Amino acid sequence: MSKWVYAFGNGQAEGDAAMRNLLGGKGANLAEMNRVGLLVPPGFTVTTEVCTHYYENDKTYPADLLEQVRSGVSHIERLIGRKFGDAANPLLVSVRSGARVSMPGMMDTVLNLGLNDATVRGLAAAAKDERFAYDSYRRFIMMFSNVVLGADIDLFEHALEKMKERKGCRADTELAAEDLKALVAEFKRIGKDIGKEFPQDPWEQLNKGIGAVFGSWMTKKAITYRKINSIPGDWGTAVNVQAMVFGNAGDDCATGVCFSRDPATGENRFYGEYLCNAQGEDVVAGIRTPQPLAKDASGRLSMQEAMPEVYAELTAVRGKLEKHYKDMQDMEFTIEHKKLWMLQTRSGKRTAPAAIRVAVEMVAEGLLTKDEAIMRVDAGQLDQVLHPTLDPKAPKKVIATGLPASPGAAVGRAVFHADDAEAWKARGEKVILVRIETSPEDIGGMHAAEGVITARGGMTSHAAVVARGMGTPCVSGSADITINYAQKLLRTASGAVVREGDWLSIDGAKGQIIEGAVPTMSGAMTDNFGVFMKWVDEARRLEVRANAETPSDARHAREFGAEGIGLARTEHMFFDPSRIQDMRGMILAQDEAGRRAALAKLLPYQKQDFKDLFAIMDGLPVTIRLLDPPLHEFLPHTEAELRDLARHLGLSYETVAERSAALHEANPMLGHRGCRLAVTYPEICEMQTRAILEAALECQAEGKTVTPEIEVPLVGSKKELDIVKAIIDATAEKIFAEKGAKIGYKVGSMIELPRAALLADEIAESCDFFGFGTNDLTQTILGMSRDDTGKILDEYRARGIYAADPFASVDVEGVGKLIEAAVKLGRKTKGGRIHIGVCGEHGGDPESVYFFDRIGMDFVSCSPFRVPIARLAAAQAAVKAKAGK
Ligand code: PEP
Ligand code: MG
Repeated sequence: MSKWVYAFGNGQAEGDAAMRNLLGGKGANLAEMNRVGLLVPPGFTVTTEVCTHYYENDKTYPADLLEQVRSGVSHIERLIGRKFGDAANPLLVSVRSGARVSMPGMMDTVLNLGLNDATVRGLAAAAKDERFAYDSYRRFIMMFSNVVLGADIDLFEHALEKMKERKGCRADTELAAEDLKALVAEFKRIGKDIGKEFPQDPWEQLNKGIGAVFGSWMTKKAITYRKINSIPGDWGTAVNVQAMVFGNAGDDCATGVCFSRDPATGENRFYGEYLCNAQGEDVVAGIRTPQPLAKDASGRLSMQEAMPEVYAELTAVRGKLEKHYKDMQDMEFTIEHKKLWMLQTRSGKRTAPAAIRVAVEMVAEGLLTKDEAIMRVDAGQLDQVLHPTLDPKAPKKVIATGLPASPGAAVGRAVFHADDAEAWKARGEKVILVRIETSPEDIGGMHAAEGVITARGGMTSHAAVVARGMGTPCVSGSADITINYAQKLLRTASGAVVREGDWLSIDGAKGQIIEGAVPTMSGAMTDNFGVFMKWVDEARRLEVRANAETPSDARHAREFGAEGIGLARTEHMFFDPSRIQDMRGMILAQDEAGRRAALAKLLPYQKQDFKDLFAIMDGLPVTIRLLDPPLHEFLPHTEAELRDLARHLGLSYETVAERSAALHEANPMLGHRGCRLAVTYPEICEMQTRAILEAALECQAEGKTVTPEIEVPLVGSKKELDIVKAIIDATAEKIFAEKGAKIGYKVGSMIELPRAALLADEIAESCDFFGFGTNDLTQTILGMSRDDTGKILDEYRARGIYAADPFASVDVEGVGKLIEAAVKLGRKTKGGRIHIGVCGEHGGDPESVYFFDRIGMDFVSCSPFRVPIARLAAAQAAVKAKAGK
């Protein structure tokens, strides 16, 4: 018999924290908290394997599941001393989802399950509190009808609002038992009217509740969330069934969420929020703005003041869990008549600056080793540290403030609906998404937005948690603003009006909403960042370079810790308006003499470009790639432009148009490009070699160290490379003779065609280094371009054909296999005497960097802003390798 259900309670558990894949994150940690000796409502976890079975078998359960669920319920009954469905003193349970990784707000939860017309009376009698019992019942019907039966929640919200209006109440808590009873009757009627009748049988409720949680794994919002966060669809979710404890049973009851450190900054202070007389979902849903745990400057009554003993207890739990897990924890708790129950603990989502600070401080506190600290920061998140901040010197008109929910500066145009945010972004606009509160349905719009503003909800509201996870700046719970969705505008308390399309800026670290577009500055790097990156650099084996050709990119590259330039694409240097006409003259020249004349004009420009690069890189290696793209890319397209060019070159329009058409490549990634240009027009290669080596010689004469590396693109055979290398070497000899000075240089080959990868052993004989062009290699192996994948990727991923976007993360099964083989071939010929690395986009992708480290490459090269990511990913790869993982 398979085991589908794992029980826990009373300090014991069948599972533990290591069983996250089977029990989900929540289930594994509930088990672990029992083992640590914390008070956790007893319960059981239905494994993720049941979810997989459910989807593989037409949404049905394994045959023996129900029996195991029944024995799980008996286990809870024994520990709690109440019976499920008992009319006199009923056991109620919560049913919650819990995947391997947390997906906040994405999946369903049902609370107070087990209530019906009979058990509600039992609950009222046992608790001696009729109001509480009916409050729980109306919550349950509402949640069950919505989550399990699929009824529109607004129908119930509306009835609740109506009742409050009739009774002249502002808060739900002001409604009396009789009102709630009437509401229960009303809710049942609503369900019946729309054909979604609320079931009275507790076992039916439980069965359906579990099914609803599994069902929520496949909702559109959950699928979108998984896509954004690269979570595989076949992981499935577990379901946790636990005895209910009540945060809504009076004023000595509460529920809350807390972090063991500040998730926005990483500061080591206890940080969280709670709501008195409320149930868990009230806090996360952002319906009421919660109060702080620790006393702060807000003036709102803190738990430290209102319930000092429980606060002290919770503080002890914080310390215990952080020590146990050696990580910052995100915890949920409920207080039932002053008794503290822990409902969840997990590693807390945090901003990248917070992650770095926590990691660095935990090493200082002796909680973590440096290697462990390196593994604690998400490499993909690291570019957040480099995020811009608002220019402190720029004038700012703050029109409203809210909670500093997610730091960073964002500037964009106001939109009021998630769909609009996506649509505006698709047409190239920067937007700020403004919502009363966000819900999981808004996830796509939040992803598209530069920043998020909400009028309601605290630091642990959906908007805040999701925005922090995405690194999107967010100001939440701004009581200063009112939002009108119909008119698409927001008004501030001070009378400012912001309409759709108006520019706004936000400072997520200060919680400020600012009128207009405030200029931004690149993010300041903190001391912690410096300390952390030093450990990173000590740990990694891979060398990290940057792809850069402009002086500004080269400067950034150094600032971000690049150890050289791994790819300078020379073609980018010809698009400058001052050069493009000469470039075109070269391309359209009728013969070699004409080409040489045009190239002679380009030479001084190129030479200066390289001198600048060498100077900025100050002795670090610089790989310069010879001209790569098909020549027609440099030519104008419209008739007017062609006529203009003809005039400039003194040629007829017909000649220019004809020549331009002849150069056109139907598929610009193939054809007459790369080293084929050098083979057919050697004078281009000569000019570039001259520019590189004369620049290097001049820098050397000025006392600088220079290590130029010349790279040949789109090589497909050794012969091809040999022809180009002969041109380079002959040109070099000529220059050295002319100048009476020499300089060392290297010649390398891009490996970006399958043919080159297969012949890498031969190609290695003629070169000093390999630069894998994984962009072209992916295109030529997959037979599709990045644009093509964009169109079909969603479907391909949903159907498991690709695990990830092959243009973002190396397609290990296809492209990766060929790269690995090519590296082996290269090493077979030259061993350690050939320098091998990657300079496609994949060089800055953490998963890919891990792969490149494992197959023994020497370096990766990526865009300057991704250099810190690549450094960290390389260090993590090395730490894993050391640990044998
Ligand atoms: C590549 O193909 O991966 C590469 C680095 O060259 P480019 O992107 O310029 O084609
Ligand atoms: Mg390429």
